[in-house]
Amino acid sequence: MAPKPLPNVLEIKPYVPGLAAESGYKLSSNENPLGCSSLAVEAIKTGLSQLEIYPDGGSNLLREAISERYGIDADRVICGAGSDEIFQMLARAFLAPGDEIIQSEYGFLVYKLVAQQSGAKTISVPEKDLVADIDAMLAAVTDKTRIVFLANPNNPTGTYLPFDEVRRLHAGLPEDVLLVLDAAYAEYVQKNDYSSGLEMAANYDNVLMTRTFSKIHGLASLRLGWAFGPAAVIDALNRVRGPFNVNALAQLAGIAALKDEAFAQKSADFNNAELDRLLPAVRETGLTVYPSVGNFFLVRFPQSDGKTAEAANAFLQSRGLIVRNVMAYGLPDCLRISVGLEDANTKVIEALQDFMAA
Ligand SMILES: *Cc1c(COP(=O)(O)O)cnc(C)c1O
Repeated sequence: MAPKPLPNVLEIKPYVPGLAAESGYKLSSNENPLGCSSLAVEAIKTGLSQLEIYPDGGSNLLREAISERYGIDADRVICGAGSDEIFQMLARAFLAPGDEIIQSEYGFLVYKLVAQQSGAKTISVPEKDLVADIDAMLAAVTDKTRIVFLANPNNPTGTYLPFDEVRRLHAGLPEDVLLVLDAAYAEYVQKNDYSSGLEMAANYDNVLMTRTFSKIHGLASLRLGWAFGPAAVIDALNRVRGPFNVNALAQLAGIAALKDEAFAQKSADFNNAELDRLLPAVRETGLTVYPSVGNFFLVRFPQSDGKTAEAANAFLQSRGLIVRNVMAYGLPDCLRISVGLEDANTKVIEALQDFMAA
């Protein structure tokens, strides 16, 4: 008889990344169109002469750098090969078969994938106007609930929850349920009522905040993320992580990227100026564009012949514009478009104008 994987593993639908662009513009993975900090590139070069040496398994210097940058306790920080790996560790440390996680309807897909690996069930709670519905999420809590995942801002919707609402979610959760605040796009948000959740992660025994170097820092290829939370949660994650989970070049680049606040600021400013240009221009074509505080936006297309999201995707592709179909999120009428460089964004606007006018 052939080796047999676990049944819950065979239920997993593997994550499908954004299409790569052989030519044209890749606007399918929310990458930083400005690249990354030149300091990060220089830092990696210093590591090239030591590729035979194992990395620092505890990512100690990087955790120190994070601690200094954010004014938080380094002992309560853990680094991962992307925040994806942190979610994997969470599932390994906190989820057993029969357990439940809660996420909002259009929440980031990776939460469900890691839950499935542990045989846990994902309860997906309907959203209101593409924003997480706190009352409905709280109503979904059972004695099997172990983790509530909230991406804030959320991908693929681009929407965010005001901090009051996040507080209300936390206040309504039992103390033994872990609230994971995924703040992958926090640096882009310019709203007075937004918070990444850093203070909550500092002050409560059941709140963990995750961050990534993949977006504002432009280091997606290196796979680097981190989490900050209660000592007991961080301790559990450290027990299940691989001994050398973050490679040495990623650690060097991360430390350098944190120092280059000017690059991060430039990235956020550029993104937000381009979003301010993109959103009204695409709305002008008659399409529904959801408000976004991330480095991407979600567009809803009509269901009428020739004007569907599928048709639009093909049309954009014919113009060399690779965007993300979000069918896997249950949004078959929508496309998610990352903010690119100016010329790419202008081409997106022109293409959607032509598509709608045709
Ligand atoms: C991009 C993204 C991440 C980052 O994942 P990494 O593994 O760190 O690259 C996390 N959460 C959300 C919601 C994202 O969109």
